[in-house]
Amino acid sequence: MKKITITFDGYSSCGKSTMARQLAASIGYTFVDTGAMYRAVTLMAMQGGAIDDNDDVDDSQLKALLAKASITQCYNPTLGQAETFLNDRSVEKEIRSMEVAARVSIIAALPYVRQAMVEQQQAMGRQGGIVMDGRDIGTTVFPDAEMKIFVTARSEVRAQRRYLELKEKGEEVSMEEVMRNLEERDHIDTHREVSPLQQAEDAVVIDNTNLTRAEQAAMLLALYNERMATIEN
Ligand code: C5P
Repeated sequence: MKKITITFDGYSSCGKSTMARQLAASIGYTFVDTGAMYRAVTLMAMQGGAIDDNDDVDDSQLKALLAKASITQCYNPTLGQAETFLNDRSVEKEIRSMEVAARVSIIAALPYVRQAMVEQQQAMGRQGGIVMDGRDIGTTVFPDAEMKIFVTARSEVRAQRRYLELKEKGEEVSMEEVMRNLEERDHIDTHREVSPLQQAEDAVVIDNTNLTRAEQAAMLLALYNERMATIEN
């Protein structure tokens, strides 16, 4: 059977990764979380002194770090999900911290960072059989993808989900901080010059505010089957 490319885009914490991961697992495709890649670059910038306390970026330092960086994702059977590595070190926990979340949209708006990440993402998807989630996947990374999903959810529900996720990981954070971070990231992500977050014209929109995991998994599988039927006929 032909292996297609499937993209998921949407605002922060709207459940894209969960949906993309569910669909990838059910059809045996590779799942790529591109937000984790931008988070890893941000962590690298913080640890390598390329972003200061005022969030000013040292471009030449960051370019030098990027040139020798290796960012990979590997399925970890113990975690039951993909794990992100920066220069062969697992950074899965660190990249989910509020410190990284507070800076990632600044780093992700830099054109040279986007260019490097988009090139890697396109190389990963060259063979098809991939489900990729992010902000610009259906518009910039794979504008010709056979199946595109744009995910939305009510903002209070998104903040509540992120808050619980961070709490579960032992992060000391308030609901207000989480809400502020989501609003700031969404604002930067939709207003940046290079590939801002936008809904692709040919994307199917799914609002998952009131959907259970089982309902969204069933809906995605049905959409995939419909799409494959039209491609194969
Ligand atoms: O998906 P996640 O919330 O982990 O993404 C973190 C940040 O990475 C986003 O807020 C956005 O600034 C950036 N990002 C991006 N393009 C992507 C994926 C993520 O700019 N394709």
